[in-house]
Amino acid sequence: MKLTIALSKGRIFEETLPLLAAAGIVPAENPESSRKLIIGTNHPEVQLVIVRASDVPTYVQYGAADLGIAGRDVLIEHGGAGLYQPLDLNIAKCKMMVAVQEGFDYDAAVRRGARLKIATKYPQIAREHFAKKGVHVDIIKLYGSMELAPLVGLADAIVDLVSTGGTLRANKLAAVEHIIDISSRLVVNQAALKLKYDAIQPVLDAFAGAVPA
Ligand code: ATP
Ligand code: MG
Repeated sequence: MKLTIALSKGRIFEETLPLLAAAGIVPAENPESSRKLIIGTNHPEVQLVIVRASDVPTYVQYGAADLGIAGRDVLIEHGGAGLYQPLDLNIAKCKMMVAVQEGFDYDAAVRRGARLKIATKYPQIAREHFAKKGVHVDIIKLYGSMELAPLVGLADAIVDLVSTGGTLRANKLAAVEHIIDISSRLVVNQAALKLKYDAIQPVLDAFAGAVPA
């Protein structure tokens, strides 16, 4: 009974290694240096598939992977259909923030009821945030380099992930609102959890026991 785990390269893969180790799973290769998209492990029944971070929920939803690890940002945008989310892994931590150009008076714009142009890779999160505040917005969907948008007049504000704030500062932007804390979660295909319970449950338990503080 083969178990397939969907992971993305970069920080999620790196931060997942100790959790996999706790479950006795050691990848045979590093996806950073290998071009392989299917990576075996020391465990003959466990393989990893390397996909784009935002595609992890989709692979798990359709059962192409039994388990996966995805950021809360990605899971909210996906919607979570077909997924169990049994465990917050407390890895890849950052914050979803609203940021504007230094000197832009965001609070004043909100108070006078201005309609704001918001550039973001996270339209769902942005829409919900501004709807709750009763602020009218036009959402402009981008796929990266959100920090540029206010600098060239594409948007009044961005909704983006912030960890150290270094990228904001380097582009003379300032965070003005915290929307939600982000970390990555274990997601499980709902059918697989029942059909492969004996294989999946020990992995869940090992991960749960190894979640960083
Ligand atoms: P891609 O780089 O393929 O466009 P991505 O930017 O979503 O995709 P990563 O940068 O690896 O991929 O981010 C994966 C997850 O890690 C994000 O969904 C988010 O939950 C979290 N994350 C993103 N940026 C940071 C950060 N600066 N610090 C900590 N965690 C982050
Ligand atoms: Mg990234």
